[in-house]
Amino acid sequence: MKVDFLIIGQGIAGTVLSYTLMQAGQSVLVMDEYKPNSASRVAAGVINPVSGRRFTVAWQYDQIYPVAMQVYKELEQLLGVQVFKPRDIYNVLPSEQLREAFMERTTGLSYMEDPSEERVSAYDQWLDQPHGAAIVKGATVLLHNLLPAWRSYLKSHNSLREERLELSGLAVSPEGVKYADISARYLIFCEGAAIVNNPWFNYIPFLLNKGEVLQVQIPGFSTPDIIKRSVSLVPQTLDTYWVGATFAWDYPDEAATQEKREILEKGLQQLLKVPYQVLEQLAAVRPSGTDRRPIMGLHPQYSSLGIFNGLGTKGTSLAPAMAAEFAAHVLRNEPLQADTDIKRFFNRYRG
Ligand SMILES: Cc1cc2nc3c(=O)[nH]c(=O)nc-3n(C[C@H](O)[C@H](O)[C@H](O)COP(=O)(O)OP(=O)(O)OC[C@H]3O[C@@H](n4cnc5c(N)ncnc54)[C@H](O)[C@@H]3O)c2cc1C
Repeated sequence: MKVDFLIIGQGIAGTVLSYTLMQAGQSVLVMDEYKPNSASRVAAGVINPVSGRRFTVAWQYDQIYPVAMQVYKELEQLLGVQVFKPRDIYNVLPSEQLREAFMERTTGLSYMEDPSEERVSAYDQWLDQPHGAAIVKGATVLLHNLLPAWRSYLKSHNSLREERLELSGLAVSPEGVKYADISARYLIFCEGAAIVNNPWFNYIPFLLNKGEVLQVQIPGFSTPDIIKRSVSLVPQTLDTYWVGATFAWDYPDEAATQEKREILEKGLQQLLKVPYQVLEQLAAVRPSGTDRRPIMGLHPQYSSLGIFNGLGTKGTSLAPAMAAEFAAHVLRNEPLQADTDIKRFFNRYRG
């Protein structure tokens, strides 16, 4: 089988990149070893324009959000499943200082809003919110719809291999790569956290971190909003919610832990006035770089190999704009931004 691009991994990175390249008229084969706890399968898919106590606007948000919205809506049309859902993020404010910080920001940012008294009081029976709340206009990408639907689409177009790429079987030359019966002009690694075991790119400083989440049921409580305090509640079905997420940079394995469950439950108990039931606990590793920027480009020496990774905590908002940038670079030789280009690690590679 001969293709322009062999893509390794079908998380959000491999999904959006394969779609973008196909839209650009390229032939693509995706190879993915199914992993139930890949970052993209455990994530809630939240797109949040701001973060932290000062409501700092996310990196390049005003450029990346319109691209994300457009690509996810196109995928929604193509696949016939819901993929993109704009949502308000209802931030329960933990103190008066945070209320003041929020009020300062609302004047400058269009995606911040002071909720009406009626809206706040409608939550009073469910949430402990003595300092009120702040609304941020965000969205969710329904990864549990998108990933399997894109997988089926690839399968039906004979563009998916459900298997693990063994690096020992790969032959790399300046003209392309060969693997079993496949020859490709480019092989792009979208492997998520598995990248740290990839000898072609081990000069890049990744700082993986593990996140844990709960799935809970809150009987009778149903809202379209994301509720956020020290934990976020992201609506799933009628009265079930994704609750997350924790961060750990030092961890022995990818399994869920009692310690993080207690942290998540403490956050939940601070937020809720009503009982809940834990249905499930999940854990996954986020593929982050040390500078918290995407990591992409072609290998400095083996130019038929590429990487599209480092989406960190913001895979859903970043993937579409970054995939467009990556495709323009490889197909039309357009430069990558200095912030995202793997060239920023090149000196380390030479050293
Ligand atoms: C708990 C948690 C919560 C999160 N919440 C959010 C959120 O709300 N919003 C947001 O935007 N981001 C969130 N993130 C971050 C987001 O999940 C990541 O940025 C994103 O999923 C990374 O996608 P990826 O495709 O790079 O990697 P992955 O999703 O890990 O996908 C990599 C794929 O490659 C496959 N693979 C690896 N090696 C091979 C091989 N050799 N052969 C074949 N296949 C291979 C794996 O099996 C996997 O399917 C969260 C992450 C975590 C852990």
